[in-house]
Amino acid sequence: MSRAVLVLNAGSSSIKFTLFDLIGAELTPRYDGQIEAIDVAPHFVATDASGAQIVNRTWAARMAGSGHEHALAELSTWLLPLLPPEGLLGVGHRVVHGGPEFTTPTVIDDAMLERLARYTPLAPLHNPANLAGIAATFEHLPGVPQVACFDTAFHRSRPPVADRFAIPAALYAEGVRRYGFHGLSYEYIASALPEVAPEVAGGRVVVAHLGNGASMAALKAGVIVDSTMSFTALDGLAMGTRCGQLDAGVVLYLMQEKRMDAQQIETLLYKQSGLLGVSGISSDMRVLAASDDPLAQLAIDLFVYRVVCAAGALAAALGGIDALVFTAGIGENAAPLRARVVADLAWLGIELDAAANAARGPRISTPGSRVAAYVISTDEELMIAQHTVRLLG
Ligand code: ADP
Repeated sequence: MSRAVLVLNAGSSSIKFTLFDLIGAELTPRYDGQIEAIDVAPHFVATDASGAQIVNRTWAARMAGSGHEHALAELSTWLLPLLPPEGLLGVGHRVVHGGPEFTTPTVIDDAMLERLARYTPLAPLHNPANLAGIAATFEHLPGVPQVACFDTAFHRSRPPVADRFAIPAALYAEGVRRYGFHGLSYEYIASALPEVAPEVAGGRVVVAHLGNGASMAALKAGVIVDSTMSFTALDGLAMGTRCGQLDAGVVLYLMQEKRMDAQQIETLLYKQSGLLGVSGISSDMRVLAASDDPLAQLAIDLFVYRVVCAAGALAAALGGIDALVFTAGIGENAAPLRARVVADLAWLGIELDAAANAARGPRISTPGSRVAAYVISTDEELMIAQHTVRLLG
């Protein structure tokens, strides 16, 4: 029997999707794509499993704020005739913030949505878009069960000290906590380690998810211990356009001396900082790597420096380190950057195998290296599809 599972990642300006075939227990991606600029100039592209483009369509944006609904209408109209005879088993959604309450993927119903809406103030940039995607799915794929998979959920097993800021306890009680994000990516890596790196899967592993959004996490026997992102996806490493770790005093300075309001500070820290802010050139690591502008080099230096410092801190949280794993766009593709990070962590006992690094591993450390290093491609969509099948199958 063949059914399908649809995975949706509804962001504020785009909806990304992957359609998986489910045959027996096997999930195979069949189509993936996205609808970009949903509120201004919608553009729908999709490719099949061979990478061939099968859709490339645009339409005029309609009423402001109805982008998710129209995008889902277009997507479901295109998708329905392509589904296997038994149709859709369910839709799995990526939801950025599940607050302290949602510690595992959860089947979506009205009561659950009401509880989830409580956490919107904790993720005002992301959760409203995720919820709009869920509402549009209810409307355009009626009767199809839906599952929410949270980026925060995998982190909820962290020890209490890793969940706290040193601020008054009343704020912790109302939800001001170190949540951690990219949980679906770390969960995928934890699930892949026994196969890719059985010799370290039960040990102390630091994972560097280095993409446009970037964070690092410490895993002990596949269970998360701490990570660099905390209350929001702003903390930790320097990112494409996000500042990463920042003294809270800087925010006070911006308010008191520069008279900036919350909106302006949000734009500065989320959209104008990181690689873009430091270089003044681009948020894209490829562009910076190809540039000989000293500010592009400074931005890369700062990115590497933060990764190296975070690796040290997370190794300390683990009481030592057995392996370092690189993943996501930069981690999987930027061999020279990996080489720099590993060279700066030589004191931990990691030794790079240059040829293996150029060939993308998966193991990129020498056979004699005391600490191993790997490149593992992350697959958050597969993780969501697996959770959806587990809950609905
Ligand atoms: P996100 O999913 O957070 O948007 P990705 O994981 O797709 O981001 O990563 C995007 C980043 O990966 C960009 O900075 C891009 O420049 C970088 N990247 C992709 N390929 C390469 C490469 N070959 N060398 C250096 N950086 C790369």
